[in-house]
Order: sequence, then structure tokens, then C-alpha cells
Amino acid sequence: MLKPIANGIYRVELPLAWPPWIVNSYIIDDSSLTLIDAGPGGEEALEILENALGELGYSIKELERIILTHAHIDHYGLGNTLTNFSSAKVFFHPYEKDRLLCRMDRYWKQNQKKICSFFDELDLPEEVLRHFHNLVSQYNNLALPFTSNQVRELSNRQKIHFDRFTLEVIHLPGHSPGHIALCDTKKRFIFSGDLLLLKSLPCPVIDLDWGSPWVQYKGLVAQLGSIKKLETLKVKQVFPGHWEPFNQTGYFINQFLMGTAKFQKEVLSLIGREEKTVYELTREAYGGMSDMAIFNYLPEMFGILSLLVFQGKLLAEVRGGKAFYWAT
Ligand SMILES: [Zn+2]
Ligand SMILES: [Zn+2]
Repeated sequence: MLKPIANGIYRVELPLAWPPWIVNSYIIDDSSLTLIDAGPGGEEALEILENALGELGYSIKELERIILTHAHIDHYGLGNTLTNFSSAKVFFHPYEKDRLLCRMDRYWKQNQKKICSFFDELDLPEEVLRHFHNLVSQYNNLALPFTSNQVRELSNRQKIHFDRFTLEVIHLPGHSPGHIALCDTKKRFIFSGDLLLLKSLPCPVIDLDWGSPWVQYKGLVAQLGSIKKLETLKVKQVFPGHWEPFNQTGYFINQFLMGTAKFQKEVLSLIGREEKTVYELTREAYGGMSDMAIFNYLPEMFGILSLLVFQGKLLAEVRGGKAFYWAT
């Protein structure tokens, strides 16, 4: 269903097969018909988006621009289908390019050795790894890659002009390396992707530094920097990637910072005087869950541990292929 949120801007809720179950796509009804985030692949999302555009008197064929806040399949999966029905160009930050131009399974295959050694460092059991490989093959069908002639790279501070307003691209890494937000600095609203969400701490996904030689990406360290940058923009309205738009930005920034600080304390007390791996700590923090459910919480734990190492509160060392963390 189409939800008007500002003059010429509409929010469309698209269904997801996993939590948080819904992702937002935004239609900008302008001389250049634009979509911000495309939603996941599949017939259901396609039909909803088609109907939403239809309510405004358009068809998918008329789409001209698709701007992606980041390369997670819930935000870009449908993009390939939309570009097949239209001549829309797809815009995103260059750090997201590798994933957007490559099938997921091919990407993982190409980098298997490095990814496996990283997972070994986390101390993941064999069955969790198998679960991960199953997910990759399932998700593969929900997001087909773009071709290079369809895409355009965006740079930080680049301006995208509309009839009624101008959006500025703001590179806010953390949740993913090339995560961007689109901000109207005059009217003070922002399309924030998964940077700051209303009902959960948007944990940075375990990721790699896509724009540079292979290194583990310190998502939460980057995320905190981006949250502080968001604070300086003093936006009045936030149009997020999931759930309802909100306007108490300062309050939610505080919630994020307090939640992160609380989790840091909990992890430090879990470590105590011992040395532990990412998997051991995740099990302890989220006890009682199956290994498959635990898998979803690994990024959060890896993010907190990387932040604590960055702050000098923990030390880490890889021994026998596994990374151990202990308090300084
Ligand atoms: Zn995301
Ligand atoms: Zn998302």
C-alpha cells in the first residue's frame, strides 16, 4: 500500500521472508520517476510495487532511477527485474559494487578460501557453516546482479536534483562499507537505509572491506562514526529502511549509543579473566538458542569485540587459525 510521507514522496512496505519481515521502498514522483531501495526479489514484492506505481498513474516501464542505500538483498533484490522492465539506471556507492555486479554464490566461490579462514577465526562449528552455505544458495534467487551498463556510481556529497528538492549523498559506512543516506539539507529529511532503525540496534553485518585489499571490516567502529555524523546533520525527519518514519532523531541516536555501551559492558564481564572466541561469547550471551539461531547474532558480537579492541579494552590474537579475545 502506498503511504504518502511528504510532497511527492511515498513509502511502500514490501514483504520479507525473514525478520524484520518488512522493508521500505520509497517512490519519488518527480519529472524523473525515482525509487529509493528496490526491496527483495520475488513475485509478491514486484506485484506490490507495480500496484503502488499504478496508484500514482505509472508503470514500472517509466522508472528512471533506482538509488540503493546499500547492497543487502532486502534493499536491492528486485532491482534487476525492475531494470528489465524499464530503462532505469541504478545508483550506489562504489564500495557496494562488487556485490551488486556478481551473483552471491559466485562471489562466495571466488573468495571461498579467505571467507572460510575468517569463519575459522570466529570458531564456527561445521553445522553452522553448512547453514550459512544453504542461506547463500537460497538468497541467490532473491537477488540477481546488475550489469555494468545499468549502473552509476555515487560519490560522497554528490547532489541528486529533483523538481521540488535536492538530495545529497552522504556516505555513512557501518551497516555496510558503502552504505549511503540521502539527505535534503534544506528541508532536513533523510532517507537513512539501515543506519538507524526504530525498533532494533541495526547490527553491522560481518563484512569485508570491499574497497581495499582484503581485511575484516570493523563495522561497528564505522557505524559509531556515521551515527555521530548523522547527529551533526540535525535532521527533522528520518525515512528508514525498515518500519515507520520518525522524527525524534536525537532520542534514537542516544538509544543506539546507550545500547552499544551496555552491550560492551556485558561482553567485558563475560570475558572476565579468560580468553574466548567470537562463537563462545555469542553462545554465552545468547544461551539456549540453536546453533542456527546463534548464527544471526555473530555479527553483533563480532562488531562489539572489534569495537572493544579498537578502544584498547580488549586484545585479540589469531592462534591455530582461531581468534582469541582477552581483557587488557
Ligand atoms: Zn541492511
Ligand atoms: Zn535492511
